[in-house]
Amino acid sequence: MRLRITIDGPAGAGKSTVARELAQALGYGYLDTGAMYRALTLAALRAGVSAEDEAGLGRLLAEVDLRLEHGRLRLDGEDVADDIRQPAVDRMVSQVAAHPSVRQSLVARQREIASQGGVVMDGRDAGSVVLPDAECKFFLTASLAARAGRRHRELLAQGVRIDIADVEREMASRDAQDEMRAVGALKVPDGAIVVDTTGLGVAEVVDRLLTYCRERGA
Ligand code: C5P
Repeated sequence: MRLRITIDGPAGAGKSTVARELAQALGYGYLDTGAMYRALTLAALRAGVSAEDEAGLGRLLAEVDLRLEHGRLRLDGEDVADDIRQPAVDRMVSQVAAHPSVRQSLVARQREIASQGGVVMDGRDAGSVVLPDAECKFFLTASLAARAGRRHRELLAQGVRIDIADVEREMASRDAQDEMRAVGALKVPDGAIVVDTTGLGVAEVVDRLLTYCRERGA
């Protein structure tokens, strides 16, 4: 059976790495919903649309061509996988993602992509709003220090020099905004298995999730 699997959690909890490897192990597709909010944010930065301008963001969403090709997100044909991870996008994305009309439009696209099953979706509201009846739901978390450390290493690997204290501050602020928004807030979805990844390696986490999914028929 080709199940629908959701992985939610705060920034830097290891969701995307784990989701990608889990999808690969099962031969499923992987959908990074955060990348969609990030791509819209990048488009807004480039077009000079402010994070507060809900109508402008809506127009931008209607105009740009946002699509997944072989698991890579393309914005008007351009592979933006690296550009959407810039600190400027980090700082703005939660404000963009808080607008109900933006969420409505992206959630509809996410449901469409997942409609055939056989998908691992990661995000903040994947198991609570996008696919509340998914067969396997997980919530990954870790201490703020562990999450900031991971993100800091990722940024250094991309050549972005930034202080770890700034990464931690930005992350805490993004988490607070994601938890407090009125629509699609970050929370543990009903029925989700919570896994604290502090001190665990990727392989260990993937193994745990894989075992659970296999028991459910994946
Ligand atoms: O997962 P990632 O850290 O790339 O997500 C970036 C931001 O996109 C989050 O901080 C959140 O504001 C937003 N997001 C969201 N809903 C999702 C996925 C991401 O609001 N399902």
